[in-house]
Amino acid sequence: MILVKTNARQVSRWQQELARAISDPAELLRELELDLELLPAARAAAKQFPLRVPRGFVARMRKGDPHDPLLRQVLPLAAELTPVAGFIADPVGDRSSQVAPGVLHKYQGRALLVVTGACAIHCRYCFRREFPYGEIHAGVEEWRPALNYLARDSSIHEVILSGGDPLSLSDRRLEALLAALEQIPHLRRLRIHSRQPIALPERVDAGLLETLSGAKLPLVLVIHANHPREIDDEVRAALERLEQIGVTLLNQSVLLSGVNDEIPTLVELSEALFAARVLPYYLHLLDRVRGAAHYEVDEIKASTIITQLQQRLPGYLVPRLVREEPGQSAKTPIWAL
Ligand SMILES: *Cc1c(COP(=O)(O)O)cnc(C)c1O
Ligand code: SF4
Repeated sequence: MILVKTNARQVSRWQQELARAISDPAELLRELELDLELLPAARAAAKQFPLRVPRGFVARMRKGDPHDPLLRQVLPLAAELTPVAGFIADPVGDRSSQVAPGVLHKYQGRALLVVTGACAIHCRYCFRREFPYGEIHAGVEEWRPALNYLARDSSIHEVILSGGDPLSLSDRRLEALLAALEQIPHLRRLRIHSRQPIALPERVDAGLLETLSGAKLPLVLVIHANHPREIDDEVRAALERLEQIGVTLLNQSVLLSGVNDEIPTLVELSEALFAARVLPYYLHLLDRVRGAAHYEVDEIKASTIITQLQQRLPGYLVPRLVREEPGQSAKTPIWAL
């Protein structure tokens, strides 16, 4: 491992990579040698939710394949613009469960803190694609009301940093946030939900490792990979570095039509995760957010898939199939058929 600590004024490599991420649909199509016929639809759908994908993630896609499972997660399509009954702006009731600015407290013992709206990658199926992030500002002073809420409720034992992607915060801000959370005596662990180790493995640099190893509370990092090809050598190395500093690594996926709704793909995903020191945690049914209907896999097919996974993998490599329902006190499990 190369231990070069960047000073505050220096722009670190991950920030450069983030700035170089592809946001122009024409560039993405050119890079992948795809037909420019796809361009008008991509441009139209990108107006609703912009395209964004780091170059390292694009490098894991197959050139010339418009159905590549990694591409399918990020390429804006005309289908997003067709209204479908039941697919709405806030499918999981996030807006009504904000108890303080940026705090979602739906489940007993844990509260979720939305710390930033920024992500390194824009996933077309994201259930927060329409979340009003503009109302959430990053910085310890801005987080003060949220921190006060967490400090007042001693039933909260775990805070989940979410977003957006909490690892979009600079090390300095993240360090300040961790320090503020550690002042709260009833917290037993901290959890970070981040897709950055997958989308932008450069983020797992010496500065981040130093910040996280300085945490006094046990850390759980839930990453987000949907397809085995998302885990290449660089991603695996990043995850190994995190494991070496004692972070517990879990993965959540979304079951997506045309991406990972085949049994061999999910078997391989679990194997690839384990090889990178990560255990599968949740396999989510799609949240019915506007613009994502073409990704939906129905519940019957999903539970058949889980039955098959149970037959092919050790129990600890089978993710829990769940659906999020507004107003429930936990994710709703979907049982195998
Ligand atoms: C999903 C979620 C959690 C975490 O649930 P776990 O089952 O503990 O992983 C916590 N808070 C909110 C608001 C959530 O949506
Ligand atoms: S990284 Fe996560 S929060 Fe960001 S767009 Fe993708 S699914 Fe949504």
